Amino acid sequence: MSQAKPAILIGLIGTNLQFSKAPQIHMQEGELSGLRYIYRLIDLAALGLSTDSLPSLLQAGGQLGFNGFAVTHPCKEAVLPYLSELSSDARLLGAVNTVLLKDGKSIGHNTDWFGFADSFRRDMAGVKTDKVVQLGAGGAGKAVAHALLSCGVRHVALWVRNPEKAKPVTESLAAVHGRDRISIVGNLPEAVASADGLVNATPIGMDAHPGCPLPESMLRSGLWVADLIYSPAETELLKAARLKGALTNNGMGMFFSQAAEQFRLFTGIAPDQRRMQEHMKQLVSAAR
Ligand code: NAP
Repeated sequence: MSQAKPAILIGLIGTNLQFSKAPQIHMQEGELSGLRYIYRLIDLAALGLSTDSLPSLLQAGGQLGFNGFAVTHPCKEAVLPYLSELSSDARLLGAVNTVLLKDGKSIGHNTDWFGFADSFRRDMAGVKTDKVVQLGAGGAGKAVAHALLSCGVRHVALWVRNPEKAKPVTESLAAVHGRDRISIVGNLPEAVASADGLVNATPIGMDAHPGCPLPESMLRSGLWVADLIYSPAETELLKAARLKGALTNNGMGMFFSQAAEQFRLFTGIAPDQRRMQEHMKQLVSAAR
């Protein structure tokens, strides 16, 4: 009798998951890594559930033999009180996108920040990092600011439309990385003029939120520009920056690296990076 392949059972908990490519991405990589990898969508809206169901879903997951859950909107923060342990990054960011179920415990991780950091080191190697202006400081924005500071960016200047709302993010990152390393921008043109890089962490540039998040006249060839958005592959911001001769990077690298790290956490196996990235690119471009 041939030896059975190891089995991995994962669920993605969130809402509006019908377009998620995560099951195909994970299951193909699992299959090619010699696993029986099943990845199920658990769409709260489709099931008539809310985040109130998170404790019972976590408990049922453990009882039914799930190895873990990926967690997305609107559960990334809501799940925190129901977990037995948190990684230090998940605790700092106050958000979890990966839950491992093991030995009766539920352990929360955050691979979003890792995804941006990994992509930044790989795709933007060698860029100047004295000062970076980041537009937006929501859920992903907080993870990205942490990633930039962890990658050695000397100062992150956050530009947000509501500075009061961004104060807690700034405070918690300042407590870890240093008070002089993060600030909230008052004058955007001045901040961009003296910056080495610009990161867009707002949804402006997505099909549902078209446009450029800042006047194109602020862009210049010496300013590298990263956008968290990967669909469309080239946002108005990235196109304008590229036409001015700037180095640009979209959010595909972040998306890929956070998924690869999630795969590694769930399975204990490092995925084949090139193969997984190629598959993801195909799925995203086929969907457009
Ligand atoms: P979020 O939590 O809603 O935060 C969005 C941020 O942008 C907030 O600071 C928000 O300000 C600001 N913002 C929204 N609309 C704005 C506008 N019209 N003008 C100025 N600022 C505006 O969203 P998120 O989860 O952080 O996601 C942000 C972007 O990152 C999205 O495009 C998302 O698709 C992308 N993303 C990419 C990846 C990846 O793997 N590549 C992962 C996660 C997210 P307020 O707080 O004032 O609303």
